[in-house]
Amino acid sequence: MSDAEGRQSEARSVEADLLVHDAAELLTVAGVGVVPRLRRALGELGLIRGGAVASRQGRIVAVGETRAVRDAVRLREGGRAIDASGMVVMPGLVDAHTHPVFAGSREAEFVLRLGGLSYTEIALRGGGIVNTVQPTRQASFAELVALTRRRLDTMLLHGTTTAEAKSGYGLTVPDEIKILEVIRALGAEHPVELVPTFLGAHAFPPEYRDRRDEYVDLVVKEMLPEVRARGLAEFCDVAFVPKRAFTERQSERILACARDHGMRARMHVDEFAPDGGGGLAARLGAVSADHCIFTPQNELELMARAGVGATLMPAAAFALRIGRYADARAMVETGLAVALGTDFNASCLCESMPLTISLACLKMGLTPPEALVAATINGAWSLGRAHEVGSLEVGKASDLLVLDCPTHVHIPFHFGVNRVRHVVKRGAVVVRDGRRVDADGAEALGGPDR
Ligand code: ZN
Repeated sequence: MSDAEGRQSEARSVEADLLVHDAAELLTVAGVGVVPRLRRALGELGLIRGGAVASRQGRIVAVGETRAVRDAVRLREGGRAIDASGMVVMPGLVDAHTHPVFAGSREAEFVLRLGGLSYTEIALRGGGIVNTVQPTRQASFAELVALTRRRLDTMLLHGTTTAEAKSGYGLTVPDEIKILEVIRALGAEHPVELVPTFLGAHAFPPEYRDRRDEYVDLVVKEMLPEVRARGLAEFCDVAFVPKRAFTERQSERILACARDHGMRARMHVDEFAPDGGGGLAARLGAVSADHCIFTPQNELELMARAGVGATLMPAAAFALRIGRYADARAMVETGLAVALGTDFNASCLCESMPLTISLACLKMGLTPPEALVAATINGAWSLGRAHEVGSLEVGKASDLLVLDCPTHVHIPFHFGVNRVRHVVKRGAVVVRDGRRVDADGAEALGGPDR
């Protein structure tokens, strides 16, 4: 070995078992340091042309231009190289708001909405959430696991590697626990990492329609202590809809109790009308106020001052034909931490974060870089995972996507189809050439390793 070769192999002393190289665009979403990303920092993708990422045992060990990464790391024998020439590489998407565990179908309500009925009118006629509660109560744990697993597979195929997952279609102690246990079981088994949220205050179950405070008693005195005892949730959410769901007093009572049990607050607010939800989320110190379609500017300012994030789900406004979208542009200018979610649920049957990103640009005024940062590091921040996922930086989890598109602009621009080619979760290839794979073989993907 010559001296020069010796020096080179010494420099390559960092061993990697995965090398993704020669990306047309590598979006690191790194480099600013501060999370959540606010105002102008929301648009900073940390883009490297001809970029590469290397990881070892699920942790990123090098990120940068391909030549520099190749100089810094040595791919171990049997390690995997992915040629990302002509493609975009970016962090796995973080879906910050989903309700994935339910049984039954609400397709009839979809047809009613097409006929001109609003979501609220359908709910007043006995439709809505309670229509999903009955079949979900009847479904066994194993049935719910099977239904939810398929949904998580679809999320993964569309690039989601971390998702928040709410309960809320059980609305009894055993059924809410059953749903959270499904989330726990799938979080342990499935590549999509789940962040559990207890949403016993999703709606009032029919049997409590005329004794609402008694249902709040049940949530506070029985559900929350049981959820805590079993360690089943990190967050507690409340659907703050004063006329149809939970009032200010009830929401405050539930979220205060949740805080005493170590769960941080999220809220559904201002989805169908300006209910004062943004202001209430600010007063209660929620981590995130979600939807915010009708939140007025003065309440957005209160949220920004209180450090409450805004999680926005344009696919829900689209599916429910609300006729209006959250004004994400105003929220960014106000200094709010904007994150994105699908709101996948029984009436918004969409697992796709790429479609969410398209709608965030087309309907809510975000630029492509802003929507991508909101769908990665800001979502990770919202879920308390920013130290682990949401950007490609040395030391973080090797969660990344290889997208079959030439620039990041194509992610929202080329909509309604799936451009996700490969998905890596914790260093393992879990989607290969657009197909879900369990086994993680070691052959090179996408082209020759140069
Ligand atoms: Zn929701």
